[in-house]
Amino acid sequence: MKLSFWGATGTVTGSKYLLETEHAKVLIDCGLFQGFKALRERNWQDLPISANELSAVLLTHAHIDHSGYIPKLVKSGFKGPIYSSQATFELCKILLPDSGFLQEEDARLANMYAYSKHVPALPLYTKEDAVKALQQFKMVQWGKSYSINEDLSVTWSHAGHILGAATVLCHCDNASILFSGDLGRQRDPIMNPPATIQFADYLVLESTYGNHLHAKEDPMLEIAKIINKTMGRGGSLLIPAFAVGRAQSLLYYIYQLKAQNKIPNVPVFLDSPMAINASNLMAKFVKEHKLGEALAAAVCNVATYANTPEESDMIHSNPMPKIIISASGMATGGRVLKHLKIMAPDPKNCIFLTGFQAADTRGEKLLKGAKELKIHGQMVPVSAEVASISSLSAHADYEEILYWLRGFVKAPRKTFITHGEPELGSDYN
Ligand SMILES: [Zn+2]
Repeated sequence: MKLSFWGATGTVTGSKYLLETEHAKVLIDCGLFQGFKALRERNWQDLPISANELSAVLLTHAHIDHSGYIPKLVKSGFKGPIYSSQATFELCKILLPDSGFLQEEDARLANMYAYSKHVPALPLYTKEDAVKALQQFKMVQWGKSYSINEDLSVTWSHAGHILGAATVLCHCDNASILFSGDLGRQRDPIMNPPATIQFADYLVLESTYGNHLHAKEDPMLEIAKIINKTMGRGGSLLIPAFAVGRAQSLLYYIYQLKAQNKIPNVPVFLDSPMAINASNLMAKFVKEHKLGEALAAAVCNVATYANTPEESDMIHSNPMPKIIISASGMATGGRVLKHLKIMAPDPKNCIFLTGFQAADTRGEKLLKGAKELKIHGQMVPVSAEVASISSLSAHADYEEILYWLRGFVKAPRKTFITHGEPELGSDYN
């Protein structure tokens, strides 16, 4: 076996590991680099192997930093199977076409404002490329061994983290290597903890929070405090949220707070088609989380879903206090921008940030106390309160990583630490 690292080394994005055996060349994860420009530019560099030499892609989970390069790989000539859990495939059906759409939007804006050195600026891949790539997915079942090739077999086990997330264990030549993917929390209210793995000769371990402990406070109490403070002065709450994972956690907490009469019974709106589709998957994959069928349905029903742009526009027709959850999580695009324009100027309202805010995004500017924001070419004054919470992470912290490692009966011969930064910057998804 030969292992090489093509991403998620010294950074938390672009996960791609190449495992070569005598008969197979497989890529474990196939993620996009995200964040700073120097990182994003790496998406345009050639891979050290041509796409058509690869036998297969083994996917740990659907987050774009693990799956978002797949359409580009297929566009470059990869014709093999992409193995993933069923829920990961369903999430990729939502996330990859959207990623293609965003790539096209980036290219369109670069051409419109002529800020790219490439003329014309082209998308890394299109929505159509992404839809085409979905045809190569092959779904696997949990805990079952799959022969990828004559000398490589692979097993997927639950990793917690998000719906469908897996650790991937590869066997070849009497040796095994485990890829952790992204490890979930030990005590998440929705997702189960990562499954214990007892044996692997080699381990590739994520370390997003390898030097960090999450706050121990109950996020439910913090969320209640912010909702009650805002409602107490007659304002509304706007929560920019990541569509997969974070939006569903927020619905869960709001449902629980309402059920326990800890917040007023104000209307809640989920205004993001992607988040609505991801929430519906909670009901479809009821065995993959802790909620059970009835609670999953109740949690999803706590919000009114705004599917169409018209339904989205109707949200503000009633001036009464309300809670709006909308994407994107860093207010870089999506329907949340419309709500920001309407809600940010009113000091009674609150904009509640619940996740990682990358440098130079509107979310980060809000966190830093910006008094105005540029949205759709116009300056919008910010008088609303800005609140934030950092304890909703879907990643294990170092205590939780160490707890999971204690499940090994015998320590791996060698552990490779990946998916971390030299210094931790901010809260990652
Ligand atoms: Zn992830």
